Amino acid sequence: MKIVVPVKRVVDYNVKIRVKPDGTGVELANVKMSMNPFDEIAVEEALRLKEAGKAEEVIVVSIGPAKAEETLRTGLAMGADRAVLVETDDVVEPLAVAKLLKAIVEAEAPGLVIAGKQAIDDDSNQTAQMLAALLGWSQATFASKIELGDGSANVTREVDGGLQTIAVKLPAVVSADLRLNEPRYASLPNIMKAKKKPLDKKSPADLGVDIAPRLKVLKTEEPGGRKAGIKVKTVAELVEKLKTEAGVL
Ligand code: AMP
Repeated sequence: MKIVVPVKRVVDYNVKIRVKPDGTGVELANVKMSMNPFDEIAVEEALRLKEAGKAEEVIVVSIGPAKAEETLRTGLAMGADRAVLVETDDVVEPLAVAKLLKAIVEAEAPGLVIAGKQAIDDDSNQTAQMLAALLGWSQATFASKIELGDGSANVTREVDGGLQTIAVKLPAVVSADLRLNEPRYASLPNIMKAKKKPLDKKSPADLGVDIAPRLKVLKTEEPGGRKAGIKVKTVAELVEKLKTEAGVL
């Protein structure tokens, strides 16, 4: 069985985000970019399934600019076998990403797609769900455990009230939550080896997908600054302030 893992190149989670002066988006020039953290978890899970003998091949796929090749090389250095880059400098919204992934999935015929639960740049949390719908496949979102059986998988999902385990038929699209695993670091020898692994490049037009945006960003704003805290001298004063000023008691 093959496993396809979509990986997005996003602003590194340690970077302090700056909004562009014209409010059209966030500053990307000269900013450190990395693989979306949930996608690292997805790659790790696919590799663990391969190491457990449940999959033969792990293919990482990214949609983005030429530099997304670095993100794919990271996935290859972690242990993925092959990479596909769908190259475009345009903004690609989740529906278009899902359509492009559908075309790749149809060509590769994997038994499982493991995506991240959300990309930390646009926080859409839509792509995995849309991909499953477009393919007509089962889906299990926010996975914190995946147990592959014969033709089906038991997936434990993080839901508001705790954990829910569901059985899904394969092929399926699963989205990875934070507690699924702790991704490995790529070792230097593996980073060197990854440079020689196969990376296939395509364009959205090659895949016959129209990626024209359907949404319009009206404005992007920095979150309002937090008010400074105050120190109180006694518990009584704290209770008083919680009652009269904060209004939470
Ligand atoms: P989103 O729906 O944008 O929050 O993204 C959810 C997941 O879809 C991500 O964690 C990735 O696994 C995948 N994904 C989204 N955008 C891309 C992209 N441009 N290239 C590859 N994978 C993507």
